[in-house]
Amino acid sequence: MKSDMTDKEEVRPTLRILHLYPDLMNIYGDRGNVIALVRRCQWRNIPVLVNELNLGDEVDLSSYDLFFIGGGQDREQTLVCEDLRQRGEELRRAVEQGAALLSVCGGYQLLGREFVTWKGEVLPGIALFDMRTEGGEKRFIGNVAVRSRLDGVSGTLVGFENHSGRTWLGPGAKPLGKVIWGYGNNGEDGTEGCVYKAALGTYLHGSLLPKNPHLADWLILHGLCHRYKVEGLDPLDDELEWKAHEAALKRTQAEGSLGARITTFLRG
Ligand code: GLN
Repeated sequence: MKSDMTDKEEVRPTLRILHLYPDLMNIYGDRGNVIALVRRCQWRNIPVLVNELNLGDEVDLSSYDLFFIGGGQDREQTLVCEDLRQRGEELRRAVEQGAALLSVCGGYQLLGREFVTWKGEVLPGIALFDMRTEGGEKRFIGNVAVRSRLDGVSGTLVGFENHSGRTWLGPGAKPLGKVIWGYGNNGEDGTEGCVYKAALGTYLHGSLLPKNPHLADWLILHGLCHRYKVEGLDPLDDELEWKAHEAALKRTQAEGSLGARITTFLRG
């Protein structure tokens, strides 16, 4: 007979994270997002497991609650595109069943319908998000601030972007937020990122999660709720994280208003 302790251990909510293509899709500190998720679980005594998926690995995606894919340049995206497509149906099913997902820049682009590079190469995506991306000549580089709305809760997100791809959301796609300063999805319509169920796409590198703790917790909670009944997360002392967030917000705002002043000056 099992002891009570064992029974409690077995039902203890555990977060299982799968980091997709960590060797190929990892720029501007994207790996730090996984570290932030792990630390925030450990600080709360939530058991957390991280596995990596590399090209050709045999992995059952249904055993995971939270997926992460970082950014990569067009070359790396070309390398992972076919492997990811073969797992497209499984990944879409996991998200349909409530698994959480965070995708950044190059990873985000591959989760849409297609990415046409600025050289004209077509990389078909897995259509998890109703959106498509086209490469442009001008790169969008700089700090970004976004007004986001997740599960009806508004907040700000801060990060850094560097992409040539312009992403256009289709009618079935909801943006992660509206750009306050920066370019976001395409530099034109003011949208940034995409949300579908508990799956997020964004252009924000950074790492993103250490200085956006509310977003990290949104992902952790949705990931846990995929398999367990969890009402909420214990609060953490996030004073430092919010200081980093505020500092990034102020810097981005200062750069943004300076940029606007220069543009006004140049236009006469
Ligand atoms: N290759 C893509 C682009 O430039 C993605 C770059 C990135 O992940 N930072 O649009």
